[in-house]
Amino acid sequence: MRGLMMDMPLSIPALLRRAESVHPHKAIVSRLVDRSVMRTTYAETLDGARRLAAALRALGVQPGDRVATFCWNHVPHLHAYYGIPASGAILHTLNIRLHAEELAYIVTHADDAVIIVDKVLWPVFEPVRARIGHRRIIVISDDHDIPPGTLHYGDLLAAQDDAPPFEDMDEHTGAVLCYTSGTTGRSKGVLYSHRALVLHSFAEALPDMLDLAEASRVLAVVPMFHANAWGLPFACALVGATQILPGPYLDAASIVSLLESERVTHTAGVPTIAHALLAHLDQHPGHDLSALRLMLVGGAAMPETTIRAFDDRHGVKVIHAWGMTETAPLGTISRVPSELADAPADEQYAWRATQGRPGPFVEVRARAEDGALVPWDDQAMGELEVRGPWVASAYYPGDDAPDRWTDDGWFRTGDIVTIEKTGRLTIHDRAKDLVKSGGEWISTVTLEAVLLEHEAIAEVVVIAVPHERWGERPLALVVATPGCRPTLPDVRQHLDGRVARWWYPDAVEVVDSLPRTGVGKYQKHRLREIYRDYFEESAPQ
Ligand code: AMP
Repeated sequence: MRGLMMDMPLSIPALLRRAESVHPHKAIVSRLVDRSVMRTTYAETLDGARRLAAALRALGVQPGDRVATFCWNHVPHLHAYYGIPASGAILHTLNIRLHAEELAYIVTHADDAVIIVDKVLWPVFEPVRARIGHRRIIVISDDHDIPPGTLHYGDLLAAQDDAPPFEDMDEHTGAVLCYTSGTTGRSKGVLYSHRALVLHSFAEALPDMLDLAEASRVLAVVPMFHANAWGLPFACALVGATQILPGPYLDAASIVSLLESERVTHTAGVPTIAHALLAHLDQHPGHDLSALRLMLVGGAAMPETTIRAFDDRHGVKVIHAWGMTETAPLGTISRVPSELADAPADEQYAWRATQGRPGPFVEVRARAEDGALVPWDDQAMGELEVRGPWVASAYYPGDDAPDRWTDDGWFRTGDIVTIEKTGRLTIHDRAKDLVKSGGEWISTVTLEAVLLEHEAIAEVVVIAVPHERWGERPLALVVATPGCRPTLPDVRQHLDGRVARWWYPDAVEVVDSLPRTGVGKYQKHRLREIYRDYFEESAPQ
């Protein structure tokens, strides 16, 4: 039809062309394996990305082929983020923390043509290589001492002096593939299109989302192998923000030193990281984090006490967000609305500890067990369903788990939520993690948040354990703070007046540590397995 706009695809190459021409001098900073800090620019990084794209084509990689990465957050991984989708191939980020068996399953399932591996990660990758048959392996290494039969990353790029410019492609083609972390079963592939990632970047940068701009200095602690590093490499390229990459050093001391020395304005990570940063800052006061405007925390629930502690003790603003691998990942974000700007602090904190309201284009609803949609009254619990242009419509390579989508195409998240009248979500649990006691649901997430406020409790996971009389009852597994040993009466006293009495855990078990998944979430399914006979063995309460 005449008179309409140009039909230009929303593809990653268009976003990169602008970064290359408008922001070539902007910095990309990366910590190296030897702990030194390297400085480069968008111009050099995007030159590397174009060279990688050309090198992959020269190796015979075709549009649509999967090229995997097994890397930390650093500049060559950014080349891959940009260059692989720009070449028409699909960037497949492998989670370096998974077991070799699971990784081998994922590489075989995705049928990766090439895998780019950090030399420092070779000992972790070697057992995977033995299980995946013949695939081309490229090793990122400063020297030429690389395993036999592999290709040298730097040499491949050096040979591509005539790498062509970034060319547009159909926005509906696949750009990035990421497998879920398998908290509740076998990992599943989620394939993001160019269009989805470009729109996600636009939404993410908005003032009421992450508020990213050219002047922002962004450090993603979230690994680049987890849900597109929450979209930050693409959103930063879109606005021309400076990127700071932590390399292999994700410990609190290394991160805090980068936050301070690089005057970072935005950082992002899971609650485990946030808790480690808080403990470090408490123990080592005096850091200047005055540039830090926003710490995005998501991937698991962020307790209100931690949000307050960052404000009160360190002047750092924590923003809580919810998302999933299947939602690219940004779904909701908890920004206090302007009408509450003068509300009492308690009310504002209570809002900030919820998972917040959906971003633009993301739609939410929740369905009760009887199949009816629940009202938005902040009371009725149901399973959250979402839809939007960056929400998966199937698992890769297709209908692997059709039951995760409703007949009208909404994604069934497995998260149990209440929705407030303006769409603000509170997550009460994963469907599989709820405790169903006497037919009523107990939120383990709420119990955990309250228990964490107890000074003798450093970490806590509450799980459902089969119980003869009630069906299931909650068991609290606790890592004690040094020198303490919380007991069941302590815990019950602490819960008095905070949650309903029938929610109190029936038992408290003090443990040395709690198992986590590759992205730092507690493996509740494993704990449920280990403790499944707990109430049979100890006399039922
Ligand atoms: P993943 O795909 O590994 O990112 O896991 C997604 C799941 O993490 C969601 O379905 C939620 O159960 C959980 N999750 C993510 N963000 C939050 C949050 N802010 N609060 C509570 N749970 C969350």
